[in-house]
Amino acid sequence: MSAARLYYDDAGLEFRAVVADIRLDSQDASGQLWQVALDRTAFYPRGGGQPWDTGVLTATAKSGAVLEAPVERVEEDEAGEVWHYVRKPLVAGTEVVGQVDAERRMDHAQQHSGQHLLSAMFVRELGAKTVSFHLGAESVTIDLAVERLSEDELRRVETAANREVYADRALRPRWVSREEAEAMLARGELRKLPERDGPMRIVEMEGVEFNACGGTHVASTGAIGAILIRRVEKVKQGQRVEFCCGLRAVRAAGRDLALLRQTAGLLSVGAGDVPARVEKLLAEVKASAKELKRLGKPAGA
Ligand SMILES: [Zn+2]
Repeated sequence: MSAARLYYDDAGLEFRAVVADIRLDSQDASGQLWQVALDRTAFYPRGGGQPWDTGVLTATAKSGAVLEAPVERVEEDEAGEVWHYVRKPLVAGTEVVGQVDAERRMDHAQQHSGQHLLSAMFVRELGAKTVSFHLGAESVTIDLAVERLSEDELRRVETAANREVYADRALRPRWVSREEAEAMLARGELRKLPERDGPMRIVEMEGVEFNACGGTHVASTGAIGAILIRRVEKVKQGQRVEFCCGLRAVRAAGRDLALLRQTAGLLSVGAGDVPARVEKLLAEVKASAKELKRLGKPAGA
């Protein structure tokens, strides 16, 4: 039997559980990596474009000895079992306290809720549909089924998304039957449905959209903090938009500013004058190269 998923109902990040199963990870060369299944878990396993939660499982022996097992990775297998990867062998039947790393969870929730909002704004403002989503440690991207995106369009979507951030719209997950989800699709409330059968988790962003999604989210759009679009590149299926939300956006803006200041310092100009100064330098380099070539030519040639 697979574990009860506490993260679906946002039941908190600390929980009690019993070790249901443990096995050695045969892929790991150290021979010291175990996969632990619990009867219930608040750890999100990798899936739906979102990485896994990390944290700790703590077991207390009858003697009072405490065993802390950091959770490095969490994966769901094809049978739907959630496996927590730890480097301490926990005994089946033992009670453990699980603690999910709050900062990592919040970061993932901000990026994922930000993605729902940004994708909804791309549809509302430009009719551009999101075909895939990737949440990485470094970057977050969506691929849009459009040929091109202008700078003006990007800023319009970014502004619309940030306005919905301050409108602080509630995010409400709920379960519906496959039939109900299909009816929502027919009414145009849902844009797409996953292919599997059975009940489906629908995340409502109040006044914005419904989305069939099993990921972890913030409670309302205000907690996304901010949405910053950083880069666009052409990919096979359309345009890839890289963005970040929350503290990632603040840090990214800070890093960009530091780079700009450093460059401006090297050129001895104000930040706003960097492009003009670089342009002038490049023109000078080109002219010098031309002059050198001319001087290097043998006389009379
Ligand atoms: Zn989602």
